[in-house]
Amino acid sequence: MDLWKATPHKRWNPLEREWILVSPHRTQRPWQGQIETPQQPPESVYDPECYLCPGNSRAQGQANPAYEHTFVFDNDYAALKPDIEKRVINQNDLLLAETERGICRVICFTPEHHLTISRMRPEAIRREARCRRPGLVISRECCTRLGGYHGL
Ligand SMILES: [Zn+2]
Repeated sequence: MDLWKATPHKRWNPLEREWILVSPHRTQRPWQGQIETPQQPPESVYDPECYLCPGNSRAQGQANPAYEHTFVFDNDYAALKPDIEKRVINQNDLLLAETERGICRVICFTPEHHLTISRMRPEAIRREARCRRPGLVISRECCTRLGGYHGL
């Protein structure tokens, strides 16, 4: 048995310069929580309730065009904003923060609601890859939204 995988111990965190308690044996506790069934991808090509489908309205009311390939737009709920003033906060070196500017774009790789990138044809994936540009940031939120359908 590996001592470090089964025995309580402490480890030195050089970044925080402190000892951290590690109790690996606690992962052996029984789990009685909820177990989710895997989500199945939708079968329909179009969903009239989807914010990303062609021709539909998004959450804030903008209408998506009737796109046939890739559709890229500014994220309606972007994690970053382009017009934020540069500010720094330092409260006794305990609270350090800086404002951050940026643009978050949503890329719909396909107009077909049910597709994920793994189900797209190679030529369609190549076409979609051309819309990516250096410096383009896709926020985690965007990836989450795209994670299910319309691409990733
Ligand atoms: Zn859709």
